[in-house]
Amino acid sequence: MTDAAIEIRGLSKSYNGSDALSDIDLTIFKGQFFGLLGPNGAGKSTTINILTGLVRKNKGEITVFRKDIENDFRFTRSQIGTAQQELSVDWFFPIEKLLYYQAGYYGISKNMAKDRIHDLLNRLGLWEKRGNRLRQLSGGMKRRYQLAKALVHDPKIVILDEPTAGVDVEFRHDMWKLFRELHGDGKTILLTTHYIEEAEMLCEDVAIIDGGKIIARGKP
Ligand code: ADP
Repeated sequence: MTDAAIEIRGLSKSYNGSDALSDIDLTIFKGQFFGLLGPNGAGKSTTINILTGLVRKNKGEITVFRKDIENDFRFTRSQIGTAQQELSVDWFFPIEKLLYYQAGYYGISKNMAKDRIHDLLNRLGLWEKRGNRLRQLSGGMKRRYQLAKALVHDPKIVILDEPTAGVDVEFRHDMWKLFRELHGDGKTILLTTHYIEEAEMLCEDVAIIDGGKIIARGKP
């Protein structure tokens, strides 16, 4: 298929001899809102981490807009923005500054990043908090920041890794609204979740992963 955004063929990964992923096939089309559903330990993060270059696969082929994720890693990584569950570093800088640093990783100058960062801070309800450090933000605000960070280089593909795990209902609804807006903007979205109702609400297509295998796929 030519209009695939992400194509995964025969992907396998094992850690210390035990299989985390066995022979996964997945196609996610351009502009699609795709859900990867599964319980803890199913292999969702491993799949995403391989896709974004954090983990090395053992076997299989993955392309992003038809380019191989290893041979053309600069291109494929530039196409993807990932909102992770966990914040890794950067507790000591104001969040606005962190977004400029993040843009810098993608070669976007401060001048070029400015409008986009201001827009993201506004859209995500972070404008008032832009001078705050990450550790001063509430859990919900930290997740909004994660999303801003994922979007700062205007990627065509957005990966949302369990974006609403452990948040309250109101916040979840706010996030869903934002995800729909992103989808409306034409982004290809890969959402991982273990909430079935979340996948039902948002996704056009889902695959269910369990024990490192795709066990079902189709419309929610
Ligand atoms: P999920 O994201 O669906 O919760 P993961 O991809 O994190 O699942 O995990 C899939 C399997 O791989 C689990 O059995 C997990 O324990 C194992 N695993 C994940 N990362 C590592 C690692 N760095 N080292 C060893 N085992 C790992």
